[in-house]
Amino acid sequence: MLGRVAVSHGPRKPFEIREYAVADPGPDEILVKLTLASVCGSDLHMWRGETPPLQKYPGVPGHEMTGVVAALGRNRRTDTLGRPLKEGDRVAFAYFIPCGSCWACLTGTTGCPNRYKSRSSLTVDDPPHFHGAYADYYYLLPRQWVYLVPDGLPDDLVAPVNCALSQVIYGLNRIGVWLGDTVVIQGAGGLGINAIAVARDMGAGRIIVIDAVPERLELARAFGADATINLRELPERADRVARVKELTGGVGADVCVEVAGVSSVVQEGIEMLRVGGRYLMMGNIVPGATAEIVPHDAVRQPKSLLGVLSYDAWVIPRALDWLLRARDRYPFDRLLAARFPLEHLDDAFQQADWAARAGQVPRAIITL
Ligand SMILES: [Zn+2]
Ligand SMILES: [Zn+2]
Repeated sequence: MLGRVAVSHGPRKPFEIREYAVADPGPDEILVKLTLASVCGSDLHMWRGETPPLQKYPGVPGHEMTGVVAALGRNRRTDTLGRPLKEGDRVAFAYFIPCGSCWACLTGTTGCPNRYKSRSSLTVDDPPHFHGAYADYYYLLPRQWVYLVPDGLPDDLVAPVNCALSQVIYGLNRIGVWLGDTVVIQGAGGLGINAIAVARDMGAGRIIVIDAVPERLELARAFGADATINLRELPERADRVARVKELTGGVGADVCVEVAGVSSVVQEGIEMLRVGGRYLMMGNIVPGATAEIVPHDAVRQPKSLLGVLSYDAWVIPRALDWLLRARDRYPFDRLLAARFPLEHLDDAFQQADWAARAGQVPRAIITL
């Protein structure tokens, strides 16, 4: 049995499609026949060479994917929740594996520094070759979280669950959203749009979304944002802070979520919070981007600042269950863009890159 992989030779280089023999999974592994993958903002960061790839070059990119169980290793009979797994079952899974034995893991912090270690030193030449999402097959390694997908959720919605949606659910859980909270969301990209729906279902009262692109703000309103602030209409930070104060009766927001990926918005977010407000930072993932903040504003009006990366084992099954119940209440289909076969992965990246630079949100879908 042969399977295809898309091979990356470096930033912006054309992908090469190769075929490799598909080996049986090891005793504690699961072989997954991938059905769908998607292109995320962080895949674009790697493709542009702004962040390091998940493996060495030549490697197999992509981390958002879903598929069906093709073969179970001899010791594997269940998903991570202990539910029976058999060949043909649809599965969703994490793309990283926390080591379980570093200080981050031992103290219950996500973002284990070793979580990509099982594949980061490999190239596509190393068996089992199928190391990423843009391929016909993928091997779930020992301890890699895997969950049955409920019937009724289409693959298009499942493929990106292991990234944006899980990140948002975990981050909002960590910062806490309570009944009636006013939530400001800085940035209406994939994370920001998902955050509107999740914060709403967690009990948020008023949701205010800030972005510079009118189409994104329109999408934010379609997802239920009560108010939007267009950066181009209010170019001064003080005016935007004043607008949030005005929308909150002079008090300020309970929660502010940074998913803009722009370091300069941090001080603005702190200023938009009420005394005792909570600031969640998830967007600034590119190293070295600096910003000036006024620590006094977080100390004398005690505010909590929290950076969150990655997520915990409970998140994916909750995300799937929530999505099943929420999918008819929010226009999730508007987050999905064109579908591309694996052979057209170059087109998918070029179009996704163009869309991202034009400020559009939708994710390119790769059919496998
Ligand atoms: Zn992603
Ligand atoms: Zn660890």
